[in-house]
Amino acid sequence: MNPVRNYRVMGFSNILFMIKKNKKISNGVKKFYITTSIPYTNAPPHIGFALEAIQADVLARYRKNLGEDVFYLTGTDEHGLKIRKAAEQVGKTPKEFADEISARFRKLTKTLNLSNDDFIRTTDEKRHWPAVKKIWLKLKENGDIYKKKYRGFYCSGCEAFITEKDLLNGKCKTHKEKPELVEEENYFFRLSKYLPKIEKKIEKNELRIIPETRKNEVLGYIKTGFGDVSFSRAKEKYWGFTVPDDETHTIYVWGDALPNYISAIGYAKETDQFKKYWPADVHCIGKDILKFHALIWPAMLLSLGLPLPKTIFVHGFITVDGQKMSKSLGNVVDPFELVEKYGTDAVRYFLLREIPSAQDGDFTYEKFEQRYNSDLAAGVGNLVSRVITMAAKSNSKQIQNSKFRTKIKETKEKYKKALEEFKFNEALKVIWDLISFCDKQIEKEKPWEKKENSPQVLGNLLVTLDSIAELLQPFLPETSEKIKKADNKPLFPRC
Ligand SMILES: [Zn+2]
Repeated sequence: MNPVRNYRVMGFSNILFMIKKNKKISNGVKKFYITTSIPYTNAPPHIGFALEAIQADVLARYRKNLGEDVFYLTGTDEHGLKIRKAAEQVGKTPKEFADEISARFRKLTKTLNLSNDDFIRTTDEKRHWPAVKKIWLKLKENGDIYKKKYRGFYCSGCEAFITEKDLLNGKCKTHKEKPELVEEENYFFRLSKYLPKIEKKIEKNELRIIPETRKNEVLGYIKTGFGDVSFSRAKEKYWGFTVPDDETHTIYVWGDALPNYISAIGYAKETDQFKKYWPADVHCIGKDILKFHALIWPAMLLSLGLPLPKTIFVHGFITVDGQKMSKSLGNVVDPFELVEKYGTDAVRYFLLREIPSAQDGDFTYEKFEQRYNSDLAAGVGNLVSRVITMAAKSNSKQIQNSKFRTKIKETKEKYKKALEEFKFNEALKVIWDLISFCDKQIEKEKPWEKKENSPQVLGNLLVTLDSIAELLQPFLPETSEKIKKADNKPLFPRC
C-alpha cells in the first residue's frame, strides 16, 4: 500500500472519530454564531463583500474544526429607494430586481465555497417580516418609538438625513452631491436613551469592537453626541415594509435590515434555535456601517431585553490600483470572473493574505498573479508535489524528530493566536513559514541522496504536510482536501 495514502487515511479517520465523539457530548458543546452584514441588492457583488464573507467563513470553519456548534448566517438587504430606482431604470419591479441580485449573492456563496448555514432575505415575508413587526411593536410599547417633525439635509445617496459633520463645501462627503432640504414627519427611535449603557459595555469590552481603532471611533461618536434616529420614511419615498398601524409610513433600513440577525434564527416565534444561538458571537462588518452596528443595533436589543452580540469585527475596504472601486470608474472587480480565471482557493488566499484583516488593502491583477505564482504555485503547490513524489518511491513511515515537532507546535500556537485576534493574514503567514521550513529541510537533508536517512526525513515531511493541510482547512478547504488525498496532481498550475 502506498505509505502516503496509508498514513493519511489513518490521520483522517482519527479526526472523524474525534468529531463524532464531540457530537455525542452535544450538551457541553460550545455554540458559535457568526454573521456577515447583509449587502444591499442595488448592484451585483464585488470583492469587498467577498472578503467579508470569506473572513467569516474562515472563523466558522475554524470553530467547527474545534468541535463547536457553529451557525454561519449571510443574506441580502433588499428594501430602499436606491433599489426601487435601479429597478425602474431597467423596467422591473423592485422585487423582481431584488430577486435577481439576491440570487447572484446566493450563487456567490457557492462560488466562494462558503460554509454558511442559512441565507436570509429582508423581503422574506414568512421569516423576516414577522420578526421586524414584533420588534417594531415592542420598541413602541417600551416608548422607544415616537413621531417627530424633522427638518434637515437629506442625501439621496446616503438615503438618510445628514448633518454639518457629513458635509464638505455644502456637499455630502461620501456622494459629492448637494443634499436636499427636507421637512418630514417620521417615526424616531430613542437611541439617546441607551447610549450611556452602550458606552459602558463597549469600554468594558462586554461588547468587543475589533480593531481597537474602531472601538475608539465608536466611543468618539458617543462623546460628540448622537441623537435619536429616524426609523421610518414616507411611504412614497421608500420601498419596504409598512409601519404596523400606519399605512403612510415605511420602516426604514435600521428597523428592517439589522433584525435579520435574529429573524433568521427564529426570533419571531422564539424558537429553540433562537434560544440556542443568540447572542451572536461575531458580527463581521465593513467600516462604513460601524455606527449602526455598534450603536443602533445594541440600543434596539437593549430595548427588546435581549443580550448584545459579543464581538463586532470591522474589516477595511479594498481599493483597486489605489482607487476606490466604483461603477463610474469602471474598476469594479467581479468575484465570479476572478474565481473563473484562478479558482476559488486562489481568490480566498489573495483576499485573506494580501488585505490586512482590519485595514484597507489594494487589489491589482499584477499583485494577484504575483501572490499566486510565488505563494501558491511555487510555495505550497511545489512543496506538496515534491514530498509526495519522493515519498511514493520510498517506504517511509512517520517518525518525528524534535526539530519538526517543535516547529509544528510553534506554528499551531501562533496560528491560534492570530485567529483569535482576527488576523487572518498573520495566520496564513505562519503557515507559509512552516512551508518554507520544510523547503529548507529538503534542501539541507537532500532525502533523494542520503539513502538511509531519507525515510526519516520523508516521514517528518509527511507529518508536517498533514499539519499544513489541517491548518489550511478553514482558509483553503479544497486545497486542504487535495493535500490529504495526496494524488500528486498539481495544486496550482502556474499562471
Ligand atoms: Zn451621501
